[in-house]
Amino acid sequence: MARQFFVGGNLKMNPDTVAAKVALIKAINVADLDPTTELVISPPTIYLLPLKDILRKDAKIAAQNCYFKDSGAFTGEISPAQLADAEIPFVILGHSERRTLFHETSEIVATKTRAALDKGISVILCIGETLAQREAGETAKVNEAQLEPVIDLLKESDWSKIVVAYEPVWAIGTGKVATSQQAQDTQKDIRAFLSKAVSPAVAESTRIIYGGSVNGSNCKELAKLPDVDGFLVGGASLKPEFVDIVNSNKV
Ligand code: PEP
Repeated sequence: MARQFFVGGNLKMNPDTVAAKVALIKAINVADLDPTTELVISPPTIYLLPLKDILRKDAKIAAQNCYFKDSGAFTGEISPAQLADAEIPFVILGHSERRTLFHETSEIVATKTRAALDKGISVILCIGETLAQREAGETAKVNEAQLEPVIDLLKESDWSKIVVAYEPVWAIGTGKVATSQQAQDTQKDIRAFLSKAVSPAVAESTRIIYGGSVNGSNCKELAKLPDVDGFLVGGASLKPEFVDIVNSNKV
């Protein structure tokens, strides 16, 4: 079965004001979007509920992170149970900014992934190598090491609720997009690894999306690649060209 094209808009800690966020959602609401693309918008935590209320009903809201405990003395965190109670259907986990700036290990990301799935929340699971790792020829090894702890904690049936986002760290927010060859080769390798480490069926059905300086000009070419099933978009999700990215799979 064909994998449904998936586009996530990761607003990160942007834009600055409530008004700007509402304007962004309103622009998405009136846009002519390809109905075959699954669209998910991920605002900062404080805006999850109000933006969910105004977002068009054929799109979904995602949290940018969550903790792995249900409740308790964890100041500043939000739990998968709370996201589920608020009917937030997706969460981004393992973003490189979380791994680098907030020291999240692949084991922590895996524990969070398990906890989110246990509450019925789908996960956009981010993986990817640094420039030094790519230049040292370690891309596959790094991606596999980031996936392994997750694979250890998931049942085969859990994978229907996972979207793997391959985001080379050197391409995130830098304006330096991976070439089509780099994106295709790496994502093909990730799929081959899932086939070996989980199952051929999971490898075939799991969406593997690309993230890293995707914009209105480069999205069409990347969307054509056989192992690129969509995009996770940071900077360009704040701009009008985001509509072109959502529609980039249109023939
Ligand atoms: C991201 O933050 O997931 C991302 C891909 O950012 P950008 O599109 O700005 O590179």
